[in-house]
Amino acid sequence: MFRALILAATNLLASANPQVEQTLSIIKPEAVEHGHIGDIEAYFESEGLRVIGAKLSHLSTEQAKEFYSEHKECAFYPELVAYMTSGPVLVQVLEGEDAVAENRKIMGATDPKKASAGTIRADFGTDIQQNAVHGSDSLKNAEKEIAFFFSAEELYPKD
Ligand code: GDP
Repeated sequence: MFRALILAATNLLASANPQVEQTLSIIKPEAVEHGHIGDIEAYFESEGLRVIGAKLSHLSTEQAKEFYSEHKECAFYPELVAYMTSGPVLVQVLEGEDAVAENRKIMGATDPKKASAGTIRADFGTDIQQNAVHGSDSLKNAEKEIAFFFSAEELYPKD
């Protein structure tokens, strides 16, 4: 009972004081190719996520393999690596309150067919693989993924 009260109070505090977080976002090759960068940025900015670092990058096979290494046992891994190296991507760091969860909400479900109306993947995704955007799925992974692409000097404003 006491534990439940503490938990409820903690959750209440967390919702009253959302944490400012940073998360990694990637606008994937087909969305860049089709000229959707500007449209997609509007989804983030209109929901209060700010771009604090960004670069266009054409990933090497090694980079794509390492970035998606948690999927290396999946049947789709080789295809995913080929896709992510098929053209330039926009890699960026988004900052805002609850940025990790907020970004995932704005992105929508992995499969654009299952993504809620008005999400980026529903509006710009082609299929379960070519789904327009990547977003970190936890704060821990966000830190890891941001460090994969950015040094502290590349994020703004600089302290
Ligand atoms: P996410 O966190 O929503 O991006 O989803 P996952 O971490 O499960 O998958 C990483 C990426 O792999 C997805 O964004 C897709 O580009 C791709 N992917 C996921 N599931 C499949 C699948 O079943 N088939 C194919 N071809 N690609 C997939």
